[in-house]
Amino acid sequence: MLDCAIIGGGPAGLTAGLYTTRGGLKNVVMYEKGMPGGQITQSSEIENYPGVTGEITGMDLMMPWPEQCQKFGLVHEMVEVERVVRSEAGTFSILRGDGKVDEAVSVIVCTGSTPKRAGFKGEDEFFGRGISTCATCDGFFYKGKEVAVIGGGDTALEEALYLAKICSKVYLVHRRDAFRAAPNTVERMRSTPNIEQVLNAVPDEVYGDAMGVTGLRVKFKDGTTRELDVPGVFVFVGNDVNNAVLKQEDGSFLCKVNDWGQVVVDLSMRTDVPGLFAAGDLRIEAPKQVVCAAGDGATAALQAIAYVDEKGHGQ
Ligand code: FAD
Repeated sequence: MLDCAIIGGGPAGLTAGLYTTRGGLKNVVMYEKGMPGGQITQSSEIENYPGVTGEITGMDLMMPWPEQCQKFGLVHEMVEVERVVRSEAGTFSILRGDGKVDEAVSVIVCTGSTPKRAGFKGEDEFFGRGISTCATCDGFFYKGKEVAVIGGGDTALEEALYLAKICSKVYLVHRRDAFRAAPNTVERMRSTPNIEQVLNAVPDEVYGDAMGVTGLRVKFKDGTTRELDVPGVFVFVGNDVNNAVLKQEDGSFLCKVNDWGQVVVDLSMRTDVPGLFAAGDLRIEAPKQVVCAAGDGATAALQAIAYVDEKGHGQ
């Protein structure tokens, strides 16, 4: 029986691994289906992790994290977890993709979330080289320049407002002529002079060169097109929360999730199921930043240690 099972090896999972092992839990396994590091390893540059200066890629940032954890005894199993189930005794079964089942006293779920792609030509090719899904992460790279934002929901409008403070102009490309966002957000967007609405239009193709994006062609409902000379395109068309491991055989979730599938936690990263914690991008109101995911992982780990100390350690 493990003291703690950590599902996912991004910034949240790795930090949870560091704190649980260093804090005295004995058998701790981090299940990561790929290489540890999480989604930030796709980023060609990260400038906002405190204390890390100079040009650094997401991969460089995450490289030392697994080794630091292993020093304190964290075991990494490179396997996908299919499901987490709770027994009547209050312990957890970890159903692994390779058919094995592990038992754990506590579980910290850190499986993250995945921004949806809009599906236009060039989007995958230029992802991380001018195409972004995070204004807080990448907006500053376009200071004083023109950018395009794709989407019409709350996130798209909030991010367009954020970018309008940094960039000279924001083209807000939306496939309809009305917005799904909250009325006061729509009002704030409309009264921001450097946001131009490009309505009834969808992205057709993003193009560029070896340096990155140089422009976006949008297509209107009537078939006409327009070229936007922008070096940055921000796509906000939704987010998939990686909560599949919490789905039970009958389709219900092991713990409470909100309408978007985000895991409901309190400020200590506790779910409504004792011994089950969630940290990082998959939780409610996640700021979706590396530093926040790492902070969540530490918070959840401290709670898991307290929980296992009270319940009794695994054998
Ligand atoms: P993730 O990093 O998503 O890690 C989750 C991990 O869980 C993944 O490694 C995944 O393989 C694994 N996993 C999922 N399901 C399973 C399963 N069933 N079994 C086993 N393993 C599983 N943030 C910043 O602070 N600054 C930036 O500049 C910045 N730039 C970014 C640029 C890009 C291109 C991207 C994509 C993101 C960027 N972010 C940035 C956001 C940041 O990467 C995330 O907020 C952060 O990685 C979230 O950490 P996490 O641990 O919650 O989840």
